[in-house]
Amino acid sequence: MQNAKDLLKRLGIDRHPRLLPCGGADSITSECPATGEPIGTVRLDTAVELEATIVRCVAVQKAWRMLPAPQRGEIVRQIGEEFRKHKNDLGELVTREAGKIRAEGLGEIQECIDIADFSVGLSRQLYGNSMHSERPSHRMFEQWHPLGTIGCITAFNFPAAVWAWNSMLAATCGNATIWKPSLITPIVAIACNEVAQRVMQTQTIFRPAYGDPRDVFGLVIGRDSEVGERMVADRRLPLISATGSCRMGRKVGQVVAGRLGRALLELGGNNAIIVMPDADMKLVERAVVFGAVGTAGQRCTSTRRLIVHESIVEKLTDKLTHLYASIKIGDPMDEATLMGPLIHAETKNAMKSAIEQAVAQGCHVKCGGLPGLAKYDNRPGYFCEPTIISVPKGVVPAICREETFAPILYIFSVKNFEEAMEIHNGVDQGLSSAIFTDSVRSAERFLSHQGSDCGIANVNLGTSGAEIGGAFGGEKDTGGGRESGSDSWKQYMRRQTCTVNWGTDLPLAQGIRFGD
Ligand code: NAD
Repeated sequence: MQNAKDLLKRLGIDRHPRLLPCGGADSITSECPATGEPIGTVRLDTAVELEATIVRCVAVQKAWRMLPAPQRGEIVRQIGEEFRKHKNDLGELVTREAGKIRAEGLGEIQECIDIADFSVGLSRQLYGNSMHSERPSHRMFEQWHPLGTIGCITAFNFPAAVWAWNSMLAATCGNATIWKPSLITPIVAIACNEVAQRVMQTQTIFRPAYGDPRDVFGLVIGRDSEVGERMVADRRLPLISATGSCRMGRKVGQVVAGRLGRALLELGGNNAIIVMPDADMKLVERAVVFGAVGTAGQRCTSTRRLIVHESIVEKLTDKLTHLYASIKIGDPMDEATLMGPLIHAETKNAMKSAIEQAVAQGCHVKCGGLPGLAKYDNRPGYFCEPTIISVPKGVVPAICREETFAPILYIFSVKNFEEAMEIHNGVDQGLSSAIFTDSVRSAERFLSHQGSDCGIANVNLGTSGAEIGGAFGGEKDTGGGRESGSDSWKQYMRRQTCTVNWGTDLPLAQGIRFGD
């Protein structure tokens, strides 16, 4: 893996004011998790630059909101086209900086394209309801207006897609976005933002009398203490969309609530698959391996718990252990690799600590474990073997209730559906969930109000890998936010209920008589 410079060049980014030749106090050096080598140095924004960005974005949004939504959609379509053109290079950049395998890096950019396409159609469908007024000669309806400028905070593990989910919808709805990416993946952020800004600069539809069209897609890259926390507290940003850990969400949520702003929180998960005895085991095996091992267990929707009927648990555990042994771990750019590195050394430490705690709490390591971590200690990058841990019957060790952002799969053995559901819902997070069964009754019970308490519930497919068409997000400590498809766009707009009296009287609601 070499410096990201050549890749950025291919994207038409020869020079960029944010990219520095070497480090300094107000910069950060991004490293490739597969090699531990630096791939680029980025200048950090300060509070002064954040202020200037907010002023610019707020100003241009006032003009952007005047452009008819279908015309905004047309510009978003052009941005989607630009992502299509650069999918290969942007996907490679995701692989280099976030360590995702090649197929997943490309998949991430495909999500940016998909949400842009979705937004184009949406730009003609920002529908409001109309309702019958109880008063004669009155018309009542709802309409949706842009919110303003949106703050978008993203996590390292989806360094491009989460921004696209937010900013493409936000732009279509008439908002500007200020993106604050993770400091672990700033170069992907610079590249993606540049692609969007380039289109804003060259398109011919939006030519505001004041302001720069590029500021519809603002970017700040800075430390949480200098930039992130200020952004969250700023009343000029009516919505803060924040993706990351529950720890971050608790802090951000409180600050935004304190100023009575809106928060869209997309936080950690602790996702489980229930396997019933009548499940199609071929489907189970594929879904579990992709869900637990894919992205090296660093997806919010990664499968962390497998809850299996006692009659098949031993056989399935053996089969998975066998499959895990065949997984090719290594260079994420190699097409044959199925699992790349962890994002940094601290994640390796967190994985080690989780395994130690699980063992101390009575669990048994089936594969991977501490030897699977140590095996890669002398190799550059942050590699590990994926780990399967068997949980003793009748207990739920405390560590299994936590989200460890690494490829650890805890396997529980259960007597029946009821016990499975109790373990399934017995965690604080509520993002993604799945059941494998050929029984309509079990499937429907899982999907019923007594079943999964998660924002995403699947039957005969895994927890990981959502499509953009549905609303994405989770309940409980996952934060309750919804973004991407369905009617998530409503989060980026304000609803107005309007009543028009086209009669010659002024009747009051509820039949109230007032001085009549
Ligand atoms: P993180 O919480 O460490 O950081 C996420 C982002 O929040 C970063 O940009 C960080 O700089 C920012 N941040 C942290 N504290 C802040 C503060 N006080 N004010 C403003 N900004 C602040 O998360 P991470 O390690 O980058 O990502 C992994 C976590 O994200 C996991 O828990 C994962 O489940 C979660 N995640 C959730 C979703 C989802 O849609 N539910 C998607 C991706 C990742």
